Formats: sequence, C-alpha cells, structure tokens
Amino acid sequence: MKGLAMRRLNEIGWIEKEAPACGPLDALVRPLAVAPCSSDVHTVWEGAMGDRRDLILGHEAVGEVLEVGALVRDFRPGDKVLVPAITPDWNSLEAQGGYSMHSGGMLAGWKFSNFKDGVFAEVFHVNDADGNLAHLPQGMDLAAAVMLSDMVPTGLHGAELADVQFGDAVLVVGIGPVGLMAVAGAALRGAGAIYAVGSRPLCQEVAKSYGATAIIDYHSGTLHEQIQELTHGRGVDKAIVAGGDVETFAEVFKVLRPGGRIGNVNYLGSGEAVQVPRLDWGCGMGHKLLTGGLMPGGRLRMEKLAAMVTHGRLDVQPLLTHRFSGFDKMEEALLLMKDKPRDLIKPVVMM
Ligand code: NDP
Ligand code: ZN
Repeated sequence: MKGLAMRRLNEIGWIEKEAPACGPLDALVRPLAVAPCSSDVHTVWEGAMGDRRDLILGHEAVGEVLEVGALVRDFRPGDKVLVPAITPDWNSLEAQGGYSMHSGGMLAGWKFSNFKDGVFAEVFHVNDADGNLAHLPQGMDLAAAVMLSDMVPTGLHGAELADVQFGDAVLVVGIGPVGLMAVAGAALRGAGAIYAVGSRPLCQEVAKSYGATAIIDYHSGTLHEQIQELTHGRGVDKAIVAGGDVETFAEVFKVLRPGGRIGNVNYLGSGEAVQVPRLDWGCGMGHKLLTGGLMPGGRLRMEKLAAMVTHGRLDVQPLLTHRFSGFDKMEEALLLMKDKPRDLIKPVVMM
C-alpha cells in the first residue's frame, strides 16, 4: 500500500509498505477524508518525539471499514466510521485507572503516526475496533467529521483540564484550530469573559464567533500587560494553553488568580523546561495548578462529541478553510500546515 511518511527527521515522502494485518479485535479502514495536524509538523520538522524512519503520518480521519477481526461485534465491512486520533488499549491498567490516553505507557494511546503507521495511507489499522471506532452519524459532512478526530476533542479537553466553571474569566492562548475549539469549549462550559490570544485576523474573527469577548495579539505587548489592562489588574480564573512555547507559562502564571488552573494541550515540541516563576506562584503557596494532557480518545468520546455537532451545539465548519480532493493531495495539505499561511485554519483532504 501507498502512504505519505516521515522518511527521517525533516523529510517526508511517499512510500510503499505491506498492508497491515487485522487481529481478532481490530479493523482495517480505508480513509474517506483526512486532515494534517500541527502535531505532524512538530514530529517531522521539530523532531519533538525523536527520529522516526518511514513511519506513515496522519492521525485525523474518517473512513470506511474494509475488514474486521473475528471478535469485533459492532462494525462490519462497508460501515463508515469516525476514528479518534487517540486509540487506547481499553483493557490496559492505565485505562482502568482513568488515563486511557496513556495505555501502555506515557502517550502510548497515541498510536497513529507515533508508534505505528498513521492514516495517510490507502489502508490503516485500528486496534480495539469496538472500543475505538464510532459509526458516522447519518448525513454528517465528512470534512466536519474529520474535525472530531482531534481538533474538537483536544480543544474541549483544554477546557476540561482548566476546569472552566460558570462565569470564569478564561484566557485561551493560541487560536489555531485547537485553540478555537478551546474557546468554543470554554463558552459551552459557561465562561464569562474569554480572552483569546493570536494574531491571524481570520482566526481572530472566528474566535469571536465561538465566544471570545476580547482578542489579544501577543506581538503588541506581553500577555501579562495586556491581560492586566483588560481585567483592571484582576487577572483570570482559568487559562487554556493551545499555542506558544515553553516560555508562555511564566506569563500565564503571572495573570492567573490564586486558585486558578492552567490546562495545557499544546504539544511542546522544543525547549528544555517549563519555568514556574516563584513569586507568581505565591512562593509555592498560591494554589495555582498547571496540568496538561493528551486528548481522550475512544468510541464513547467520539459518539458524545458527534452528538454536539448533530444537535447543533457546535459548528466546526468555520475551521475548514482549505479543501483538497484526491489521495495525492495529502502532501500539499501537510506542507500547507507546516507553512501556516495567514488565511489557513485547517485543511482537509477528501479522497
Ligand atoms: P496553530 O499553529 O494553528 O495555532 C497556534 C496558535 O498559537 C496561533 O493562534 C498562534 O498565533 C498562537 N501563538 C504562536 N506563538 C505564540 C506565542 N508566542 N504566544 C502566544 N500565542 C502564540 O496550531 P493548532 O491549533 O493546530 O495546534 C495547537 C497545538 O496543539 C499544537 O502544538 C498541536 O501540536 C497541539 N495538539 C495537541 C493535542 C493534544 O492531544 N494535546 C492534539 C492535537 C494538537 P498566530 O495567530 O500568530 O498564528
Ligand atoms: Zn493532532
């Protein structure tokens, strides 16, 4: 089978590989639509996870089931399916402990394009099909459905990690597709003010449509200065980080009120350490919490997030700025994600 792979650090290319085998609990799936992710960019061009050789990229897809293992109950060849980026082993101890995304080791629930070939292939393998696939809701647009693989679950998880409550003043750092879904997640959880940080005008407009009440351009001064001005020195209750780098957190700690929480979903591709400023952390006594997480995957999550789309609570169409047609366009779409032109939010490739 053909696939678009990371050949080595800083290099992508088309390769031929043997199609994967289907175990008794697994499924083989043909992609119907896929999307590249900023995480693919971190992996290939920043070497964030170390070197990978001839590993097929991509972890965002909707597809059609080609084959299922003998023990799969709920899916048949021909079924159209939502596929989460994170596909845990549901019988692992980590999953039993509530952290399925780390089933088998830290980040090991993230298998596609990390530990095994991803979805930019003619066929891809899904472990634990009953636990990880979800049926595509009738009538759902395929491009919208791809946003359920990663952008929606990651952004909304940011709002969960930050524990956004009714009326909270929330800072969202980064308004690419993930941050935009974090803005939407904060609004859905009842935030009061939402301060969204980013400089691309299209992202700023879309952030407002998802519920941002003020926009901050990080080129126009520090986050600290700008938030202090907007909040008259009070700062924010919660912060979701979906952009920036290891330096971002010190600024966020400065504007976080005591009792505040930072939920990070940014994939920190470089830098040695995240610094917690001693004084802004109340000399260790400020009740300010920093947490970060990989998105939760699995079938139930997919079904619930799909329900938000089918019942009109969440519209993902504004994320979809570039549509490509044809398998061979995956490379162009991935390079677009790397270059991030100013009119880009998210590209999708329809087969
Ligand atoms: P984008 O690159 O599209 O968006 C990044 C955002 O951060 C932009 O709004 C950008 O602003 C802003 N930004 C850049 N530099 C700074 C800075 N110094 N200070 C403040 N804001 C800044 O990324 P995505 O939305 O596609 O992805 C966001 C992150 O989420 C990535 O790291 C990705 O790998 C990660 N991710 C994590 C997952 C998880 O499970 N935890 C899953 C999927 C993705 P500007 O408008 O100027 O471009
Ligand atoms: Zn991703």
